[in-house]
Amino acid sequence: MTQKTQELTQDPIDYHLALQTLHEDGTRMVCSSKMHTDRICRFDYLCYCTEGDEFVFFHSNYSIMLPNLGSRRFQPALLDMSSVEDHNTQYFNFLELPTAALKFLSKPVFVPDVTFIFNRFNPDNIMHVFHDDLLPAFYTMKLFSDLDEKARLVFMEGWGEGPHFDLYRLLSNKQPLLKEHLRDFGKLICFTKSYVGVSKMTTWYQYGFVQPQGPKANILVSGTEIRQFSKAFLVKMNITRIEEADKDASGEEESEKEEYIVLFSRLTTRLILNEGELITAMAREFQMKVFKVSLEEQSFPTIVRLVSGASMLVSMHGAQLITSLFLPRGAVVVELFPYAINPEQYSPYKTLATLPGMDLHYFSWRNMKKENSVAHPDRPWEQGGIAHLKKEEQARIMASKEVLKHLCCRNPEWLFRIYQDTLVDIPSLLQVLKEAMKSRLSFNKSKPTSKIHPGRVREAQCQTSVQATDKAQLIISWKIPWNLKYLIVKEVKYEVWIQELGENTYMPYILQQHNFTFSENIKPFTTYMVWVRCIFNSNLLGPFADVLVCKT
Ligand code: UDP
Repeated sequence: MTQKTQELTQDPIDYHLALQTLHEDGTRMVCSSKMHTDRICRFDYLCYCTEGDEFVFFHSNYSIMLPNLGSRRFQPALLDMSSVEDHNTQYFNFLELPTAALKFLSKPVFVPDVTFIFNRFNPDNIMHVFHDDLLPAFYTMKLFSDLDEKARLVFMEGWGEGPHFDLYRLLSNKQPLLKEHLRDFGKLICFTKSYVGVSKMTTWYQYGFVQPQGPKANILVSGTEIRQFSKAFLVKMNITRIEEADKDASGEEESEKEEYIVLFSRLTTRLILNEGELITAMAREFQMKVFKVSLEEQSFPTIVRLVSGASMLVSMHGAQLITSLFLPRGAVVVELFPYAINPEQYSPYKTLATLPGMDLHYFSWRNMKKENSVAHPDRPWEQGGIAHLKKEEQARIMASKEVLKHLCCRNPEWLFRIYQDTLVDIPSLLQVLKEAMKSRLSFNKSKPTSKIHPGRVREAQCQTSVQATDKAQLIISWKIPWNLKYLIVKEVKYEVWIQELGENTYMPYILQQHNFTFSENIKPFTTYMVWVRCIFNSNLLGPFADVLVCKT
């Protein structure tokens, strides 16, 4: 603590200047976005009162508060402090005071660093750590150039460090602070420059607070950004991918690395009861080494190093599967689900693995045999115990064959089923694994395809002619998109839409060439609107060029 206090203590001249600025200028706030769910705010001299557990905005004649929402600032809040959308325990707001009130308050302690303030959502769970906090924080820091390696992170959710604090430390060179640390600094802490809130751009999953859990409706991240993050974290953790280390040693481009499987084990809940047998079966079937890891037995960097060179990751559903972030391209993820759980309804890891550009092969296996399942009705409710429920409800849950869709987070039937241990039926799992390995081999042979989209077609033109009282032609031509001459594209096609003015429908055409005479269904003395766009490799669509208006 002494060390931390010293870190914050400033030169007395700086202190005097900071105090004077706070008195004269008060707080200044400028935010992004119209919506509280998309907002991040930048502050000069935002303060935090540790006794009242409130942020404070000091008004002076020079204060700025943009957006200036009036009382709409409380409907429901100025912004979300965590990356979980609109969660009512994660709202940010501040109290307002005139700077004149400063003379009645304790002397402020100033934080000189550029500070990044947000809430971690569930720092005890490694999946939440990456999905809700590390990825969002990493990319928020890319958004604002002064949130660099010298930035100070402050986590305001009020939790202790948690088991994965070392990972949060990797985000910047300074020790992150928790809410409890702020109390040790004094009664009034003022952040000279700070950002409040964290970007949601990278999140891919919603946990089921308002509708049953599932992939987010509008995913904005691709495997490319996820992999850039993973690469940066591997460097921060001082890990060289096993495959790369081998490459360096041999000096060859395509070194023959030894392939292996990683089996992720859990030691306390949701166990695989026959891990030994499973490991032997996998090793025999694929003639590969199988490494067993668990968060309880290995350090996180040790696990990540192994995962980063694995051909296949096999694991029971659970947070540890977030380590597939670090799998090499082309690897296989196989997720196991306990009895009565439908894999389609719990898909954070499937969604991650199948993001475009993650280049992973995802497969799930589900225990279909009730007799291979060991439930724990007498455990506490949060580990799936159901002893607290009425007898009939207990009986219903025990007899049910599948958990129906439900909201987060206390559905007893879901908890009961998801915390079952499983004796894995080896032949049926091997079936899935073999199929997975097959798909992987065919992928590895095919070359990675381009992600570059075509530009607009240029100089689109339309000529018309009337052949007879009931026959006309549209002659449409255009030039290739400007970027095409710099690309090697397997297949270039053009899509043309023709709509008669005033009609609701249009006629779509796919063409190989860049001019075409349309005569089918073209009427004389009629106005047509024509749109043209380029398509690479059947799925990379370009933008439409400006509409052509053609009169026959
Ligand atoms: N965990 C673990 N071993 C276990 C049970 C849990 O390492 O036997 C870890 C798990 O990976 C997660 C955290 O403890 O990081 C919380 O586990 P929980 O079962 O609550 O969450 P889930 O894995 O279902 O997301």
